Amino acid sequence: MHPVVPALVESAPLTVADVLPRAVAAGLVGPDRPVAGFLDTAGVLRAVEGLRAAFSGVPDVLHTFAAKACPLVPVLRLMAAAGMGCEVASPGELRLALAAGFPPGRIVLDSPVKTEAELREALELGVAVNADNLAEVERIARLRRPDCSSVLGLRVNPQVGGGAIAATSTATVHSKFGVALRDAGAADRVADAFARHPWLTRLHVHVGSQGCPLPLIAEGVAAAHRLAAAVDARVGERRVTGLDIGGGLPVNFADDRVTPTHAEYAAALREAEPALLDGRYRLVTEFGRSLLAKNGFLAARVEYVKDAGGRRVALTHAGAQVATRTALLPDAWPLRVSAFGPDGRAKTSAALRQDVAGPLCFAGDVVAHGRELPELAEGDWVVLHDTGAYCFTAPWSYNSLPRPAVHGYRAGDGAGVVFATVREAQPVEEILRENGLDHADALLDGPGGTAG
Ligand SMILES: *Cc1c(COP(=O)(O)O)cnc(C)c1O
Repeated sequence: MHPVVPALVESAPLTVADVLPRAVAAGLVGPDRPVAGFLDTAGVLRAVEGLRAAFSGVPDVLHTFAAKACPLVPVLRLMAAAGMGCEVASPGELRLALAAGFPPGRIVLDSPVKTEAELREALELGVAVNADNLAEVERIARLRRPDCSSVLGLRVNPQVGGGAIAATSTATVHSKFGVALRDAGAADRVADAFARHPWLTRLHVHVGSQGCPLPLIAEGVAAAHRLAAAVDARVGERRVTGLDIGGGLPVNFADDRVTPTHAEYAAALREAEPALLDGRYRLVTEFGRSLLAKNGFLAARVEYVKDAGGRRVALTHAGAQVATRTALLPDAWPLRVSAFGPDGRAKTSAALRQDVAGPLCFAGDVVAHGRELPELAEGDWVVLHDTGAYCFTAPWSYNSLPRPAVHGYRAGDGAGVVFATVREAQPVEEILRENGLDHADALLDGPGGTAG
């Protein structure tokens, strides 16, 4: 563990009200920098600490951070410094994890669709790989060299059902993920694959992300645990040595409380299957949202306000490009929004029902509908709370809006706040390049095409 980690974990917690006025004063946000993301460095480490404490009684556990929740290299490096591993699901995420400094032996590759080249690279690096299906197991059998150091597993879908949000429920009857375990003969086919391939030693299960109640997640993990025993019985010896139990601890977006906690999650596992945490299997966890969401916020400037059909609408710089799910599925992904004045201090004026809209050219680009908030005015700031995961770190490039800057913050001397640039706002030149500037003439007549 990096020496800076314990001191940060011990530091006094900071609130948005502590941070935003200083971010405004420091010029990190302003009229020409109208939206930015902020991450609470110490808060992230405290969340990691809570996760570790929840599993402290388990003899052998590797906690990996699900990179997709917040794939920024400085965040990944912080996670590595705190002793975490990393769960990745694409060639880009794998490269980010390596660049952040995770040793290959602490990286787990989980993507549902992997090319042969991606598999070969992972096997050569010694990254753990969870095959999504039995065809992928056979592919690995062909590609794997005898001296390969990758831990190899197979994802199963316990088909325990979905949670409150269909799109983040991965253990439904027809889910695209893993081997559908309750289908006729599936458990036998899985056991046969383990019998055929002595290097297959891990079972992987991830029941869902957000909206899945703890007992449902625990039921899915318990099913994988029972399967491990069945596989060993079929093989005739100890074969399954590890259980990768995924992530998916839901986050409370309604207020500041962290609920449920990682400790409650571990208790739910114990309740579903007391032997789960007894150390017979090396456990791997893959939490993302529960470590980051509540440790980040977005600040966006109110550019204009208007009235439409008797409803006040605040036009801000944070919309679907940084809170995509909230704009597209507002009932499933509500976010808390609060109002701050031009100096970054909380507004206390009388509440008014308002829509808080974003800058994109489509009507659904609204992050809060009819919300009671202090009356917003031009130059104010709105804060979108609990957006440290899957929001400004998973931006949508609709309307060619730039990815906003991201700043880390921590307590400084006295009442001060120390900021660190995690990512700069995307320069417009980069937007040009990713939209084919280098091929500007490609569709005009002339030589230089690729014959096919
Ligand atoms: C997305 C994902 C995770 C992380 O889910 P969270 O809800 O962010 O904890 C873990 N494992 C797999 C396989 C995933 O797809």
